[in-house]
Amino acid sequence: MAKAAQHPQADPELDRLTAQAPLLRQQLLDWWDVHGRRRIDQKPWMFTAEGRWPQSGEELCCLSVWVAEVMLQQTQLPVMLPYWQRWLQALPSLEALQAAEERQVLLLWQGLGYYARARRLQQGARRLAGTAQRHGLSPWPRTLAGWMELPGLGRSTAASILSSAFDRPEAILDGNVRRVLARLTACPLPPARQLAAFWRLSEALLDPLRPRVFNQALMDLGATVCTPRQPSCSACPWSAACAAYAAGDPARYPVKEAPRTVPFQVIGVGVVLDGAGRVLIDQRLEEGLLGGLWEFPGGKQEEGEAITATIARELAEELAIRVEVGEELIQLEHAYSHKRLRFVVHLCRWLAGEPQPLACQQVRWVEPADLDAYPFPAANTRIIAALRQWLERANDSSPGALPAGGGATAA
Ligand code: SF4
Repeated sequence: MAKAAQHPQADPELDRLTAQAPLLRQQLLDWWDVHGRRRIDQKPWMFTAEGRWPQSGEELCCLSVWVAEVMLQQTQLPVMLPYWQRWLQALPSLEALQAAEERQVLLLWQGLGYYARARRLQQGARRLAGTAQRHGLSPWPRTLAGWMELPGLGRSTAASILSSAFDRPEAILDGNVRRVLARLTACPLPPARQLAAFWRLSEALLDPLRPRVFNQALMDLGATVCTPRQPSCSACPWSAACAAYAAGDPARYPVKEAPRTVPFQVIGVGVVLDGAGRVLIDQRLEEGLLGGLWEFPGGKQEEGEAITATIARELAEELAIRVEVGEELIQLEHAYSHKRLRFVVHLCRWLAGEPQPLACQQVRWVEPADLDAYPFPAANTRIIAALRQWLERANDSSPGALPAGGGATAA
């Protein structure tokens, strides 16, 4: 009775798997010994400075682990690996990270998306270094609460850092682990509604003697065997215990939330060139998904508005400049979790008005060759490539050419 009162959503599947925990633990560790991602080129932050897999309880470089775990929050391992290598080469210490210019931090992150993660890493470094300086202690927290005080770190990332860096017995519940547990239990609800139960199961399964290896094995199982679309159940060490496998359709799990309608917007973007061939860029305000990044100016198309009129209007409203909107340079689509965007990009000729940062942090005329020194969102890097191709073609046919006019203008 006491147990039921403590866990009102107690679940027979949870009890069944908890009772099998010692066996499941051993099966997973045996599988990982043979099939786990345990080469240094796969997860270099999991190795000692001498290039060894750490012994039980041996500590690893916490900075390397922390950066890797934050990069892995929304990015798969093969994609984030080169970013992690570049980041650690450029910013190899807490001191280097806290002292770096924000532009360098964002440039190192450029292409990974969710740029708030990069800014929060630097904010976290400043906080950790400050605390260590004040108290003369190691900067690295040894508790979940200590890590979760840092911006952008939830329980699972904090637990993963502690188990990876210090071999501490902390259960994890990232997206891969949720999927595995949802299938093991054939959970009839979307995982987000069963988090408390999944945390209990992850805690029950965790090997208290080899927590680092166990958590790595659990993540590897989710990433390489119990994959989102086509789980390889015949290769899975847990198939005998898996309720979704027994039910015959494991890919049906995790059960999904009812689909939301995602709003769609068209954004008119102006690539504005002046008489000297310089291009106009602006830096977004700090808040929001892409805060602090640079971009080509523009804004939302209003209902019934021609896209050339949108661009001319937005540039007048946001930068107080008058432009002649010329030919289309490129169109691109970009999907975020909460909206889909189509960018319609036109070349523009600057006519009048000193650019003012009315809706951004700052605005700057730059040489096209210098654009790489500014961190841009992924969609804008394709605009830069299109602009460079256009400039090459224009220079080949008519050196010093600027975009032809003929579109809308705005005062
Ligand atoms: S048996 Fe299949 S569905 Fe179940 S945990 Fe293993 S891979 Fe995932």
